[in-house]
Amino acid sequence: MSVLAPYAAHPEHTQGRQHPEAAPEGRNEFQRDRDRIIHSTAFRRLEYKTQVFVNHEGDLFRTRLTHSIEVAQIGRSIARNLALHEDLVEAIALAHDLGHTPFGHAGQDALNECMREHGGFEHNLQSLRVVDFLEQRYAEFDGLNLTFEVREGILKHCSMQNARQLGQIGERFLDKRQPSLEAQVANLADEIAYNNHDVDDGLRSGLITLEQLARISIFSRHLFEVRARYPKLEGRRLIHETVRRMINSQVCDLCAQSGKNIVAANPADLAEVRRAGTLIAFSAEMQQEQLELKQFLRQHLYRHYRVKRMSSKAQRIIRELFAAFHADPLLMPDEFQTRAREEPARAVADYIAGMTDRYAIREYRRLFTVDELPL
Ligand code: MG
Repeated sequence: MSVLAPYAAHPEHTQGRQHPEAAPEGRNEFQRDRDRIIHSTAFRRLEYKTQVFVNHEGDLFRTRLTHSIEVAQIGRSIARNLALHEDLVEAIALAHDLGHTPFGHAGQDALNECMREHGGFEHNLQSLRVVDFLEQRYAEFDGLNLTFEVREGILKHCSMQNARQLGQIGERFLDKRQPSLEAQVANLADEIAYNNHDVDDGLRSGLITLEQLARISIFSRHLFEVRARYPKLEGRRLIHETVRRMINSQVCDLCAQSGKNIVAANPADLAEVRRAGTLIAFSAEMQQEQLELKQFLRQHLYRHYRVKRMSSKAQRIIRELFAAFHADPLLMPDEFQTRAREEPARAVADYIAGMTDRYAIREYRRLFTVDELPL
């Protein structure tokens, strides 16, 4: 790792872990967190969780796992450029979606609806719950016992009501303070990753077309450049050459603008970063282009009737699983039954949120299909 900026998060100055542990040997605190995340069960489940396209729709679409790896890659590039701590950005990126339900946003919305009377369901908070409580691997504590800096990066958003119940990790939402620059980088790396891979997956699926995207300024600018340089190029290579230029231009813009913001705010250390405004940001022009692209994707991809059909089916699965388990917790595996004695709805939400797409489909069949063995 190159020299860290004074305003970066320095692992030797971490605000620590909930359960004190000896310092790691041969790696820093954030590397240890990254390694714990990679070895977690929740991380392996990401392989079979939907990003936009449900897992069985095709082998080449992004899943939550490949999405998280792309976020980590983009985040590390930005961190190195700005002399921030790469391992911290990587740890946050790899953990940021650990609490996601099966079936992407459709699943999250359905579970939130089911939990309305029981405190709601929010995937950022669930990611924190996974690393704080739900993983069971260590003799001395529940969860992964990660550093404060990784945990605050995972908790991107939070309602005021939840913030008040979370102690130290919720304080910044109440005091309107910022997280580390590394957390801010991971957040925008997420945005760069999904906007671009959704363009790529959207084109691959045939639900959106090059002709439609050519009307979107950031895409058309790079498409024009690629076509001017390689007039005979077509198909997948044309798309890849365009998308890779989009990613690069967004990363470069973000680094340039954030560099300027940091110089202007001139934070001496991480404490001053927390008191400053958001410093990791796109330029106003790039922000506008990102918005245009997002709106396009929302309208033409996420609301495409074929995506909607899958979402509607997914929501029905989640709702019906929730209703069945909530009405009779004895239908759940033993460990969730035990937890359901104290907080029945939350135990059901934890069980469902932990399911992969195909596991949820299988559970649905086991519970509701007459000729399926109920194992
Ligand atoms: Mg994400």
